[in-house]
Amino acid sequence: MTELAGKVALVTGGSRGIGAAIARRLAADGADVVLTYAASRDQAEAVAAEISESGRRSLALRADSADPDAVAAAVERTVAEFGRLDILVNNAGVFAYGPFEAETRESYARVMAIHVQAPFVAAQAASRHLREGGRIITIGSCLGERVGAPNMTLYSASKAAVIGLSKGLAQDLGARGITANVVQPGPIDTDMNPADGDGADAQRQGLPLGHYGSADDVAATVAHLAGPGGRFITGAVISVDGGFSA
Ligand code: NDP
Repeated sequence: MTELAGKVALVTGGSRGIGAAIARRLAADGADVVLTYAASRDQAEAVAAEISESGRRSLALRADSADPDAVAAAVERTVAEFGRLDILVNNAGVFAYGPFEAETRESYARVMAIHVQAPFVAAQAASRHLREGGRIITIGSCLGERVGAPNMTLYSASKAAVIGLSKGLAQDLGARGITANVVQPGPIDTDMNPADGDGADAQRQGLPLGHYGSADDVAATVAHLAGPGGRFITGAVISVDGGFSA
């Protein structure tokens, strides 16, 4: 596919899981891709090498999404190295699970920094470079709209926040022809939520389709939003959750 030929994408948290699948898919659709990571240098470089071998340009950057300066620097480095930025995918995330009473101001600050501050900072930095047709896609969670079980207050709050962030961006950047959307995965088989992990059977019981999704399922929707098919979709919240929130 060449729908994204000539485009440059930045995917945060592209070393593993959903972010790696998004990076690979955008590259398969023709984009050059910069991906960030926090700790998994080898895996991030392996994804970038695979993309480079396929004929697209790619670069893995260490940029801790908890650090707003690192996030802004990743945007600037992308433009410096590849000359432009067309697609920002805010994907980096951590799962926060545990009793509400045990959360601390530090845990609150960290989760909010990674899930909310980083997309805000990245979008602001990216908006200086995005042109007509630019895309901002943020990976939320079905738990941002329906929590459904205890022990996920902090995680859910952070994923709810990106809905408001993205709708605001849709309003602020629409006049420039830039779209902003949220993709909300449900149970997706990754390191964060393995299909054979504790609690997986309980999640499967809540899935009308009866099984976990794959990272590629999420990447397919991100690719649609990033491509020409997404040009009239903005301010939307799209679930890729196997009906988990139905
Ligand atoms: P994984 O744990 O499999 O991968 C997380 C990715 O995010 C890794 O690339 C990791 O990098 C990166 N990352 C984590 N923290 C940081 C940080 N501080 N700075 C930069 N990168 C970071 O998770 P998933 O792929 O499952 O999740 C991806 C997104 O999808 C997240 O936002 C998550 O909340 C969301 N999601 C996932 C669901 C699921 O069922 N899997 C369901 C709903 C939403 P590194 O390898 O360096 O640690």
